[in-house]
Amino acid sequence: MRSNSTKKRILPALFALAAIAGLLWMTLKHRTVTLDSGSRITMGTFARIVVVAADPQQARDAMEAALEKIYDIERRMSDYDPNSLLSQVNRRAFEAPVAVDEELFEVLAASVEYSRLSGGAFDVTIGPVVQLWRKAKITGIAPTPEQLQRAKESVGYQNLILDTENHTVKFSKEGMFVDLGGIAKGYAVDKGIEILQKAGVKGGMVDIGGNLRCFGTPANNIPHWFIGLQDPASEENILAKLKLDDRAVATSGDYRRFVVIAGQKHSHIINPATAESAQTLSSVTIIAPTAIATDALSTAVTVMGDKKGMALIESIPGVEAILIPQGENPIFEKTPGADQYIQK
Ligand code: AMP
Ligand code: MG
Repeated sequence: MRSNSTKKRILPALFALAAIAGLLWMTLKHRTVTLDSGSRITMGTFARIVVVAADPQQARDAMEAALEKIYDIERRMSDYDPNSLLSQVNRRAFEAPVAVDEELFEVLAASVEYSRLSGGAFDVTIGPVVQLWRKAKITGIAPTPEQLQRAKESVGYQNLILDTENHTVKFSKEGMFVDLGGIAKGYAVDKGIEILQKAGVKGGMVDIGGNLRCFGTPANNIPHWFIGLQDPASEENILAKLKLDDRAVATSGDYRRFVVIAGQKHSHIINPATAESAQTLSSVTIIAPTAIATDALSTAVTVMGDKKGMALIESIPGVEAILIPQGENPIFEKTPGADQYIQK
């Protein structure tokens, strides 16, 4: 009798304890910390990393490793730094083949691919023309048509010879100059994401100057990573909210970086065919699995304009575009698949 009534009391208590332990375990299992690097200056712009992890120390270590990787890529691939490996290539590759490390070779090979894919709208050898416009930004005087013509003669990705076996780079034309400004930020974002994933964190986001990629569990327990699409006319105005999971997005725009000379706005993106700045689109947003793709393709589509640009993006599976042509009122031109990323 007595043992029966004890059982009656103990059993519910045990069930209650098990339920509490289960709940606690579930809470701990899903508990995450979100670490935000804030703005860091690199590659001539701002970088930001967000890490979602179970453990604060794991989050910190992963973030530091990803940032270090990005700084390291900048040191090797910047054409502003005369000591970078890329600057050595630019000085010596016409005289003889220059050996480069695996990662620089990988970026150069991808650059040639995107140059080919875009029919030369993206051209990684645009350097000599970009140099002239950079100088104009400082002096306020536009390059002369003769100067532009001369610089244009040294442009042509077909003259960039990559030896896959020996990992060397050779220029087949004098005066060539490789500029990775349209692709290296995306590459660095991908490498940052790779480091976070290898560190085993639950989720993360890497953004370098509007080239962004996210994966896994979003920050602050929300269902997706959300990214605002800025109005080209006003940075504070958000035109749409993009919801992303394991995706990269990049926006190239004439509102972000430009120079005004004699009242005329020149975008930092150059049409290799004319050596003048690309004119027709205010903002080009590309969504794709990798940031190297979104970086190169956003630059390419800015040059190609809406018709050719849209045709290119629609020909590549898994890649979507949202374009805003120049004009008073912002309107969207989208690929059909872009809608799945726009928060209704
Ligand atoms: P993004 O910020 O990705 O749109 O790239 C712009 C940068 O890419 C410029 O600052 C130049 O360094 C470089 N660039 C400009 N025009 C081109 C082009 N047609 N092809 C490849 N790179 C370019
Ligand atoms: Mg780009």
